Amino acid sequence: MLLNQKTPKPDRREYTLMIVPHHAKSVFSIRIPIKAVKYAAVTLGICLTILTGTMLSYRYQANVATKEKMELAQLREVNNKQYSQLEELAKTTAQLQEDMARLNQLDADLRRMVNSEESAATSRSAPVRVGNHSGQGGPESKPSINDLSNLVKELGASAKEREQSLINLKNALTEKNERLAATPSIWPTSGDVTSRFGWRSSPWGWGSDWHPGIDIANDTGTPIVATADGVVASSSWYGGYGKMVEIDHGNGIVTIYGHNSQLLVTPGQHVKKGEIIAYMGNTGISTGSHCHYEIRVNGTAVNPSSFL
Ligand SMILES: [Zn+2]
Repeated sequence: MLLNQKTPKPDRREYTLMIVPHHAKSVFSIRIPIKAVKYAAVTLGICLTILTGTMLSYRYQANVATKEKMELAQLREVNNKQYSQLEELAKTTAQLQEDMARLNQLDADLRRMVNSEESAATSRSAPVRVGNHSGQGGPESKPSINDLSNLVKELGASAKEREQSLINLKNALTEKNERLAATPSIWPTSGDVTSRFGWRSSPWGWGSDWHPGIDIANDTGTPIVATADGVVASSSWYGGYGKMVEIDHGNGIVTIYGHNSQLLVTPGQHVKKGEIIAYMGNTGISTGSHCHYEIRVNGTAVNPSSFL
């Protein structure tokens, strides 16, 4: 193949392409206009540009798609993880609900034990009871954030209500304990009951007399204890009572311990139930070593047996 070797002289606006076939007998030429070549070149350039652009675009799209796919996978993983956490949270919340139900039941049981009117009124507000019955059901549904959020709010409110209820219960119990501690309920000493409360034959043989307490006889020096918490009102010699201790327990209740050999407390002193306050003796008007134990309610002597 030869280009532009022989006549005629080529036109400037066209290329002459001479083709010499290997086995052909004649040479022939093709004239191509420069414009056509230019157009072809431009077209080729445009095609190449479009092709390159398409390829780049395709690669970009492919990259974006891969990235999106990875992000989607990550998102799915995060989503699965969050769902698992949600399920765990639902289980924990359900457990908390059960715990709260048991707490409510415990609260109600305690109130019944305390048997306080005020407590019983509050205990009726216990929203859930736990019994031995196991029946349950309803359609199964997946936990949702809204459900859990509402449940947590309910639990929060229930916990606050329970806290207040338990505070009231504690106050009621404390008050009851204080009342119990300040109520004479034990024997002041050990020994034999030699004289009961009420009318009796006079120990001195002068008919009968009113005995305002009980007499418990034992050896001199036997410990005498306070039968309830209280404050020592007096601790001194008091006529026929001899060496006597008087304790004020509040609520109008006073206890008296007479005929002691030795006094161990002083007026104003706080004593606890069971604390030794004196030793048994035979002081005052007495026929032998014993403790004259007396309980007064609002100034009137009552039968100590009803407190024992
Ligand atoms: Zn007596």
